Amino acid sequence: MDLNQIVERAIKNEPPTYEEALALLRFEDEETLLLVDAAWRVRRAFFGNRVKVNVLLNAKSGYCPEDCGYCSQSRHAQSQINRYPMMSVEEIVEKAREAFSKGANRFCIVTAMRGPTWRDIERVAEATRRIKAEIPIEICACMGIIDDPAKAKLLKEAGVDAYNHNINTTAERYDKITRTHTYADRVQTAQTIKQAGISLCSGVIIGMGESDEEIVNLAYSLRELEAESIPVNFLIPIKGTPLGNGKTTKTLTPWRCLRVLAIFRLTNPKAEIRASAGREIHLRTLQPLAMLIANSLFLGDYLTEKGQKAEDDWQMLEDLGLIAQL
Ligand code: SF4
Repeated sequence: MDLNQIVERAIKNEPPTYEEALALLRFEDEETLLLVDAAWRVRRAFFGNRVKVNVLLNAKSGYCPEDCGYCSQSRHAQSQINRYPMMSVEEIVEKAREAFSKGANRFCIVTAMRGPTWRDIERVAEATRRIKAEIPIEICACMGIIDDPAKAKLLKEAGVDAYNHNINTTAERYDKITRTHTYADRVQTAQTIKQAGISLCSGVIIGMGESDEEIVNLAYSLRELEAESIPVNFLIPIKGTPLGNGKTTKTLTPWRCLRVLAIFRLTNPKAEIRASAGREIHLRTLQPLAMLIANSLFLGDYLTEKGQKAEDDWQMLEDLGLIAQL
């Protein structure tokens, strides 16, 4: 296989063929640095040495009626987490100020719910208006299923830049992960968001028992959906969730995680690829190599789980010569 040719095509925004992507995902560990280099050349062509720094806010925690098998915030999970209702506008704005002071380019407001009521939407819209009036930071909202285009329109008008709604896993595997909504529901929301003119952030969780073929299919699905940012999460098995025993993450070695990231980069060359939750426990000391493929990361903690210390992330980016910039 000619990696130079794959890189040249990717720089023209042409993805590898399905067979090529599958073969790359199956590279031996000792060959994987060649793939990292190929992905780095594509990343550099589109993003230079820039990296987008995102900070998450769990603005409403727990009590979610959905039954996503990976999630500690599901009402069905037995996880020990801090549960609380939706934060006030003032609290959200204050958290955005904190995120900005830590160097964030994008502030992600997440609410654990099936989908937002009008009251929820209006609160996030008001917080966004106030943040945008005060701080130069992008806002991403993540509030579950949006089936009413008028709700998406209100978020757009308030200044919400992006909406996160992960596809997570393939349509075929969906009912093994959740039974309270479908893959088609997720795609429908992604389309509603795009139609409202909001940038689509949609990604995956790797390590839930999916095959190599499914990983490649996920990368192609996100290309078809035209996701502008793609968080690639590696499952954190959380105690008290159905996937909390860690059985499905055994194959997630650091080299395999790098190959997965590279497949998403080569298949979606222009997208913001984010090395997301779980990078600390699955990539471990190879995390810096991930940032040569991904051009985005979450700084600090995840929704209910601890991340790497912010100062360690900043040190890693500085050592790599990467600069936080939109
Ligand atoms: S919809 Fe979101 S918050 Fe609710 S259980 Fe699923 S992942 Fe968790």
